[in-house]
Amino acid sequence: MATRIEGIEVSKLLGPALRDRIAALPRLPGLAVLRVGEDPASAVYVASKHKRAEKLGFHQRSLHLPDETTQQELLALVAELNADPLIDGILVQLPLPGHVDATAVLDAIDPAKDVDGFHPVNMGLLAQGRPRFVACTPFGCMKLLEAAGVELSGKQAVVVGRSNIVGRPMALLLEQANATVTVCHSRTRDLAAVVGAADIVVAAIGRPRMIQGAWLKQGAVVIDVGINRLPDGTLCGDVDFDSAEPRCAAITPVPGGVGPMTITMLMHNTVTSAELRLGVG
Ligand code: NDP
Repeated sequence: MATRIEGIEVSKLLGPALRDRIAALPRLPGLAVLRVGEDPASAVYVASKHKRAEKLGFHQRSLHLPDETTQQELLALVAELNADPLIDGILVQLPLPGHVDATAVLDAIDPAKDVDGFHPVNMGLLAQGRPRFVACTPFGCMKLLEAAGVELSGKQAVVVGRSNIVGRPMALLLEQANATVTVCHSRTRDLAAVVGAADIVVAAIGRPRMIQGAWLKQGAVVIDVGINRLPDGTLCGDVDFDSAEPRCAAITPVPGGVGPMTITMLMHNTVTSAELRLGVG
């Protein structure tokens, strides 16, 4: 039976080092989270981020704006946060309402405070192999692979999904860890065959249980990024866990796999930002 790679356990392992880094700062790390509207999933994610930041003793600013907030107002707020000397990290919770140009808002964040790692400057640094802030979800996936002792060098890795927030940075990170990487997307032909050749599969699709156990190479390692809510209210990943688990060497559960790591890496990036800004470390 496969090893379950538990995100909560790996997060706990990373805790002491993070606390040591916070203790070495001359002031508390500062995180601002900006949310617009009433998307229920966003409310849950933001609450979890604040809770974790509070546990670590961060200075926090929580900005919750009404749905009708204009682009101009949002940009003005981002500019104000960019200038706030006590704020090291700015996170704009997605999705933003349809009338707002989300790319323009994300691009307005000072790249030195872009702890989500979405800004083109930070994506560019990652693409060049000199990362500063790496997008939290793929960064967390790498930590899970590391904690599970998965050797990446020379292995065949398949990333299903090519979004800027998960699939694309994930592929860059795996390639920089010397895996041979194939990126799949909605136009990929014979996805099952491509997945079947992989030693490591990362699923970031947003389609419940799409990847079947029968597709997987025996002994593959599977990282399931997907978070899908089923009609009965339960959550599932992009991989059919029950059929996949018997074929895998290791697999992340959903929930409890990648999800907790995303928040942990947000905290990590905020502390890194504080260190860089304060000249520590
Ligand atoms: P996007 O919708 O931005 O990207 C989905 C990707 O999957 C696209 O590249 C798309 O291809 C590809 N895709 C869609 N359908 C297929 C298909 N039939 N076959 C192959 N590829 C396909 O999603 P995100 O990257 O933002 O998120 C992916 C999943 O990860 C979601 O379930 C999301 O909820 C979850 N997530 C989880 C996080 C966590 O903390 N655990 C954080 C962020 C996301 P194309 O480019 O051609 O359209």
